Amino acid sequence: MNEATAPVTQDVVTIPRKLPEGGRVNLVGLTRDQLRDALIAAGTPEKQAKMRVGQIWQWIYHWGVRDFAGMTNLAKDYRALLADRFEIALPEVVTRQVSADGTRKYLLRIAGGHEVETVYIPEENRGTLCISSQVGCTLTCSFCHTGTQKLVRNLTAGEIVGQVLVARDDLGEWPEQGAPKNETRLVSNVVLMGMGEPLYNFENVRDAMKIVMDGEGLTLSRRRITLSTSGVVPEIARAAEEIGCLLAVSFHATTDEVRDKLVPINKRWNIKALLDALREYPRLSNSERITFEYVMLKGVNDSDEDARRLVKLIRGIPAKINLIPFNEWPGSPYERSDWERIEAFADIVYKAGYASPIRTPRGEDIMAACGQLKSATERARKSRAEIAAEAGL
Ligand code: SAH
Ligand code: SF4
Repeated sequence: MNEATAPVTQDVVTIPRKLPEGGRVNLVGLTRDQLRDALIAAGTPEKQAKMRVGQIWQWIYHWGVRDFAGMTNLAKDYRALLADRFEIALPEVVTRQVSADGTRKYLLRIAGGHEVETVYIPEENRGTLCISSQVGCTLTCSFCHTGTQKLVRNLTAGEIVGQVLVARDDLGEWPEQGAPKNETRLVSNVVLMGMGEPLYNFENVRDAMKIVMDGEGLTLSRRRITLSTSGVVPEIARAAEEIGCLLAVSFHATTDEVRDKLVPINKRWNIKALLDALREYPRLSNSERITFEYVMLKGVNDSDEDARRLVKLIRGIPAKINLIPFNEWPGSPYERSDWERIEAFADIVYKAGYASPIRTPRGEDIMAACGQLKSATERARKSRAEIAAEAGL
């Protein structure tokens, strides 16, 4: 039995971990090219650089080694040089909460003392890690808790991929040297559905996902990574070409009038512009269907008419509709649709030929469910009046 399937506990622990020290360059999050340049700048002969990149990459991303001394296929002097110039630093785990359903929520501290949340959701034979791309969010979706927190900053590529490494550390999911390959992975899927809008932090998200997909380290296939966007239309084609992972879109409404209120970025790129970009995505990324996320808000977007309009709008796009029962948070201005309403909505979508799973809320008891994430210590909090005004409520 591994830890993820162990009997349920509800605890909060503090795992002390070193914050990046000044002066040393953190190797976590560097692309292969950047790593090569850094090694050469530190005195690695150019001829050896490619091989050294491969070796160090494997130690960090395949074996989970955090200390240069453990990189036993490198000469002792070279290890000392690396330790002098570089570090392998991860976000610090401030708290780890384990829900009654096994979901784990990590509160992580990153450089500057900022905090983000990462959620691990164990399922049978797989596990999904929900990672953050920004501290807060510039967007102000009126049903989203993160949207009430002003953007503090973008995460670096190292802080994004670092979330995956932290989870694998906590789950004890690094291979032992010489042991047979373990086919069942605890972190088998990654979703960019935590805090922030990933397409507003494009380069760092792309570089981090390239590391996660790299065949020599974490080796997750691009079909096991899902990027969720609220609809940053100009970046959608770019994501197809430069990342190529699966795409989810926070759709949530079937008229511009309602979507303007729920997902205010719709005022900039409306439903038509968004759908045009989505129609192109599968061809450009050579991927399968797009996930349409649809939060179920009582009396706002959950009528039979909405369901019928939805299937009409997306006609021709290979799609799955993920219905998300609204997760409440303190002060939230909406209510979750009744269960019968959600089922009736799902039924219409299903009968029109689309898979329409209703997402079971996970980790609600620890505020780990969709849209509930937010740094506990965040300072720049928007007022409720501000949120309502921005949403035009
Ligand atoms: N910024 C990106 C990714 C993060 S949000 C985006 O908006 O797509 C991940 C998903 O959770 C989105 O579909 C979002 O709309 C949804 N969500 C946000 N708040 C929610 C809430 N309170 N209840 C249910 N789903 C919510
Ligand atoms: Fe930002 Fe996504 Fe929340 Fe909207 S739903 S405020 S884009 S995190």
